[in-house]
Amino acid sequence: LLVCSLLATDVMRKSSPMTLSKDVQEPALRAVLMMLLSPNGYIQYEASFKLSEGLPYLGDGYLNVLLSSLESNTTRSVATSFDSFKIMTNLMNLACLVLSRPYHNLLNKRNPIDVLSIIIKECLHNNIHITRSKVTSHLHFCFEGSSCCCYLGEEWEGENIVLYYGLVGLFNLLRSTTLVCVQCKRKLDVGILCHDCRDQYTEDFLIVLQRALSQSLSSGPKLYIAHILSLFGLCGSPSKLGGKMSSALDNNDLADLELLLSDGESINAHTAIISARCPKLLPSVKCLLGSDEKVKDEWGKSVYRVQMSDRVDSHALKKILEYTYTGFVMVGDDIVKPVRTLAKYCHLKPLAEMLQKEQPRWNSDYTRYDLTVALGPVEHSFSDIILEAQSNEEMKCDHGPCQLSTPHVHSHKTVLIMSCDYLRALFRSGMHESFSDVIRVPLGWQALDKLVHWFYSGELPSVALDCRWNNLSSDEQRSHLNAYAELSSLAEFWFLEGVKEESLSAASSLLGSSTSAAAVEFVAFAANLGQWEMVEAGVRSVAHLYPRLRDSGRLERLDEELLNMLRTEYVRYSQHGGGGN
Ligand SMILES: [Zn+2]
Ligand SMILES: [Zn+2]
Ligand SMILES: [Zn+2]
Ligand SMILES: [Zn+2]
Repeated sequence: LLVCSLLATDVMRKSSPMTLSKDVQEPALRAVLMMLLSPNGYIQYEASFKLSEGLPYLGDGYLNVLLSSLESNTTRSVATSFDSFKIMTNLMNLACLVLSRPYHNLLNKRNPIDVLSIIIKECLHNNIHITRSKVTSHLHFCFEGSSCCCYLGEEWEGENIVLYYGLVGLFNLLRSTTLVCVQCKRKLDVGILCHDCRDQYTEDFLIVLQRALSQSLSSGPKLYIAHILSLFGLCGSPSKLGGKMSSALDNNDLADLELLLSDGESINAHTAIISARCPKLLPSVKCLLGSDEKVKDEWGKSVYRVQMSDRVDSHALKKILEYTYTGFVMVGDDIVKPVRTLAKYCHLKPLAEMLQKEQPRWNSDYTRYDLTVALGPVEHSFSDIILEAQSNEEMKCDHGPCQLSTPHVHSHKTVLIMSCDYLRALFRSGMHESFSDVIRVPLGWQALDKLVHWFYSGELPSVALDCRWNNLSSDEQRSHLNAYAELSSLAEFWFLEGVKEESLSAASSLLGSSTSAAAVEFVAFAANLGQWEMVEAGVRSVAHLYPRLRDSGRLERLDEELLNMLRTEYVRYSQHGGGGN
């Protein structure tokens, strides 16, 4: 592999007049980049050393060739389309150069940052789009996509490789830029964006990147986007659930933790969230539960008190808490240092890496905001509410002293009320139920399990449509489908924003590959709950089988209204050319 990187410098040299075909360049340069970005320090060091040894042939002259080629390719009028392949090879070469040795304050000469920003924007608007299989012919003969339950998945660098290499280039140029405004090139005392340019730059480019983070990109591009944003003080992975949780930070009603600072200040927090997202801030759970550290505060509520070390800066701690609760925090240039120190101490790896301007390593994961750890057995201890399903099944609970034998989940009020107005009102109402430790949720176990996942991760768990689904019996498929109908129905009463839509799309996609028996049962079940959109989806999925289902007597369960819907849909289906079958 290391020899390969030497060969690559050869490739780069020969390709400086761009004579080599993209078929040769892409795989060779990709191999080199994988080594330059290797999580293994030795490989990474050797690769960049060998590469920089070979680079003097090329030197700054080559860099200028690349940059002017990129510039002329991106500044042409919108009407003519981009030469995407040329942009791609230029970007890959550029990435090799900037990764093998630092180029400080490049923007003094040309403005590569503007050029790369334009390319990235065009990629995000899909005007430039190249997939690996378009470039390298050998991939056409290889296996692509997914094979049943064995999912080969997407490459880490994502579908659009131009986007990825553009981001790598931009991150590295920005990272080695210091004390110059990237917009107006003015010299600065701190940071890389002057006061005058900040607003415009934020609205223009940074917002585009932030929006891209909520798109479905793969880990590679997402990591680089997050790391680029962090250079401008926007650190973390913003998410909808994280946004909701930000109000938990100021919610003192349910706070059961006081962090005491050496200057006498105290900050309220929630053990459930801290222990799931930033456990290093707390003494060990055993020690916390076993000791008398739980004391009554002045209102008679019992809280844990934890004394912080006197080296902990209170502003930095507030930033760390914000990140812990929401997964995202803005860190200004003036406060980077103490926040970075504390993030490292707290083992908040993604945040610490961003604040240290570290290079994302090939194949490392982009961490989403997620609270599901809080449901794990140890953290159960901080649970203050039990959600019990409507079910006669038995379930053994692994939570120490718990005696409940029906299916249930040990949950946390703080998390529940952020996504559910009904529960928020219930807990505040002072009604008999609001003091109970157990809430009976009008859902079967399947549905409750999915709902809890939604509360803690912000997404309904999806069922993969592969042989595992196809091998389920009709009954098992039906119970999955019915769970979505139950959720959709509960969403109306509990004001669960987005659950109705997510359930519908999940059920619709499953219906396409469900057995007709499961689908017919589901139609009856959903109609019973008044979930008509689901009924329609179910009817659409089996309508083409109508005559066969009718003759086999499977439709006896359905009432006249549903049969009518089915007949109408069948007629529509036959008239649109499906009748020949
Ligand atoms: Zn191959
Ligand atoms: Zn399979
Ligand atoms: Zn400026
Ligand atoms: Zn239990």
